[in-house]
Amino acid sequence: MQRAFDREQLWPVIRGWKHRGQNVALVPTMGNLHQGHLELVRVARQAADRVVASIYVNPTQFGPSEDFSRYPRTLERDCEQLKAAGCDLVFVPDNATMYPFGDHAAIGMQAPADLATVLEGASRPGHFDGVVTVVARLFNLVTPDRAVFGEKDYQQLLIIRRLVEDMGYPIQIMPVPTVREAGGLALSSRNQYLGADQRIAALALNRALQAAAGEFKRGSPRERAEQQAVEALAAEGFSVDYVAIRRSADLSIPGSEDSDLRVLGAARIGDTRLIDNFSVS
Ligand code: AMP
Repeated sequence: MQRAFDREQLWPVIRGWKHRGQNVALVPTMGNLHQGHLELVRVARQAADRVVASIYVNPTQFGPSEDFSRYPRTLERDCEQLKAAGCDLVFVPDNATMYPFGDHAAIGMQAPADLATVLEGASRPGHFDGVVTVVARLFNLVTPDRAVFGEKDYQQLLIIRRLVEDMGYPIQIMPVPTVREAGGLALSSRNQYLGADQRIAALALNRALQAAAGEFKRGSPRERAEQQAVEALAAEGFSVDYVAIRRSADLSIPGSEDSDLRVLGAARIGDTRLIDNFSVS
């Protein structure tokens, strides 16, 4: 597996592949890889001749009081795992490669308000602007034919799809279902912040979301199903940002005729913020 840290190292490799008619799949990550990320790499491996994984902890998508500086960075271990999963190249851009004029002077992109100011966007103002800014830059640098994203970050997936359609990127977006631990907890780099007791309490998040979906399907009003989940999480010691049943297509509030729905939630246990979502159908 090759490593590239800047555009001068990246471009000749990509050009060589394309010259030989090989297509390229990109798996963007922030590193500290787990089986969820590696599943994305495996999907990419099946879908393309060449697989690039990027590792970059992007400062512009973290809020001022979020965990940017303490976000776990484990490059050597990540590279071993990527190699074993069949990745051809790991792109680990330095800040000067991603933001040549510094991230404060960067030409930023604005995520579409309809998708980006609700739910995660309401709790983390500006987060999705940072996400589209960095993903567009990765697309420009790597020029992939396909890009793989996890359903774990469902709202992000919708926004990336919109980015591709709106900006005309010739890139196919491939979603991958959330990979979970045996108890149902969605794998996340942030799970390692959890203490032993918190890790057990964290199982309540997926349970509460599934319960809300079940309640709603049995005919409870949407708000009641959501509120019950909020209360169940509060009883487990979570401070809840939101639990919401929304249209899968655009996260808007469902009408009675809508059938393709998703339940999404975010809650904090101690200093650790966890998110999860499920299909309601
Ligand atoms: P991150 O490193 O957290 O930015 O995530 C990089 C990519 O991995 C994103 O597309 C995430 O949605 C995806 N991802 C993270 N956790 C999981 C998981 N448990 N299952 C599937 N995909 C995941």
